[in-house]
Amino acid sequence: MMKKYIMALDQGTTSCRCILYDKQGHQVSLAQKEFKQFYPNEGWVEHDPMEIWSTQIGVAQEALLKIDATYENIDAIGITNQRETTVVWDKNTGEPVYNAIVWQCRRTSEYCDSLKEKGLTDAFRKKTGLLIDPYFSGTKLRWILKNVEGAYERAKSGELLFGTIETWLIWKLTEGSVHVTDYSNASRTMMFNIHTLEWDKEILAELDIPECMLPEAVPSSMIYGESSPRIFGGPIKIAGAAGDQQSALFGQTCFKEGEAKNTYGTGGFMLVNTGETPVESKNGLITTIAWGLDGKVNYALEGSVFVSGATIQWLRDEVKLIENAAQTEEIARSVSDTAGAYIVPAFTGLGAPYWDPYARGAVLGLTRGVNKNHLVRAALESMAYQTYDLMTSMAEDMGHQLNTFKVDGGACANDFLLEFQAGLMNMPLYRPECIETTSLGAAYLAGLATGYWESTDDILSNWQVDCIFYPDMEAEYREELLDGWHKAVKCTFGWAKS
Ligand code: ADP
Repeated sequence: MMKKYIMALDQGTTSCRCILYDKQGHQVSLAQKEFKQFYPNEGWVEHDPMEIWSTQIGVAQEALLKIDATYENIDAIGITNQRETTVVWDKNTGEPVYNAIVWQCRRTSEYCDSLKEKGLTDAFRKKTGLLIDPYFSGTKLRWILKNVEGAYERAKSGELLFGTIETWLIWKLTEGSVHVTDYSNASRTMMFNIHTLEWDKEILAELDIPECMLPEAVPSSMIYGESSPRIFGGPIKIAGAAGDQQSALFGQTCFKEGEAKNTYGTGGFMLVNTGETPVESKNGLITTIAWGLDGKVNYALEGSVFVSGATIQWLRDEVKLIENAAQTEEIARSVSDTAGAYIVPAFTGLGAPYWDPYARGAVLGLTRGVNKNHLVRAALESMAYQTYDLMTSMAEDMGHQLNTFKVDGGACANDFLLEFQAGLMNMPLYRPECIETTSLGAAYLAGLATGYWESTDDILSNWQVDCIFYPDMEAEYREELLDGWHKAVKCTFGWAKS
């Protein structure tokens, strides 16, 4: 019998990847390629949607060729993507009217301030689960309509379409016949009512967005359509999509309420599944849709650490204390503590639960004996402290502790970091064998829609633990460390305010 795989398209912020998975969730082929970043103004970030498309298809072809597979070996395609990034294109020609405005782009800051000044914060939060911020797609879409000549009129007359990246890729794969967004991606647009699962008419009116350009919002696991036979030589079902962080939560098999994952990458992203009820945060976390599956919608609370592994890059590239990230583990272990030093890497302000855009980084608690090793250790510990703060916010909002905590991302290779993290959180951490959870989640969502996997139970057995980190820290010591951290964080507040 012919071997069948699931093709996961992982469209990230800096690169496109394609990974083929088998039934056990093992990677059988992988191809990856970076694409160009555009910085046309200070704080602006753009991508070329056509380059994203061609790069994505290029790596998909390459992944197939690498194992001599064809479209016939692929059961379905699942897509995961950088979230919030906004594309507008002509419905008839498929030509984007402007570059994709990337999630990191801050060009709509002032407009977002004006929405806040109008007192709309609560209204937006209640409907969308989000804080008003340039990060989300809505104000980026508005910017394109207001600033690209003729765009608003063309959108109104039904000539233009809007999409986040999964929408754009599905539209291109189906040669323009399917225009959909999955619930998890829709929930990042700041235009989507996460309770009713509809585009919110009041918000659309406020932002002045014609509804006819919006995609149909659909579950994260269903057959959306088939890829055009011209792309892979024959059609392949497109059967799943989810934003990168939600997809990672799914890939980590956090299917039940109270199950959480944290990704230690350049930044840190923590999500906890809150089941079928959206939980409103009192601690500055975001309420988001995790996925729509089997006629149900799962919600999540999300918090992010702006600077996580990037602190280690900073030590390497700017301070030049280390040569590579991996050596930080041995250096941190060479001392028994940080000798009272703390690094607060608030380089770009602080996110949840502090939300201070004016906070700036600081090294505190220095005494004459603090050396390079202590500082390296303090940098790693800062990643754990920030994650701890998100965890306590989540527990407070949910009204109970997390049930399970799974980790992934590049920096989760660091055992010292995870041991310290487990100690701080006073709970075990689980690191899976496959830390490529983002693309795996999209593969699972697609395979569930086609019957490649029968149920989430079928998938659970694929999740294999690599290491469990058990807490091993005295309560009194933990309190002492955390007191010091929170004191240090407070010192950074408001630093950049004039
Ligand atoms: P992203 O996908 O966000 O670009 P990755 O998940 O690949 O990032 O993780 C890379 C980040 O993790 C970098 O910021 C790097 O400094 C950090 N990192 C990688 N390996 C280690 C390590 N062994 N210890 C600590 N940090 C690490």
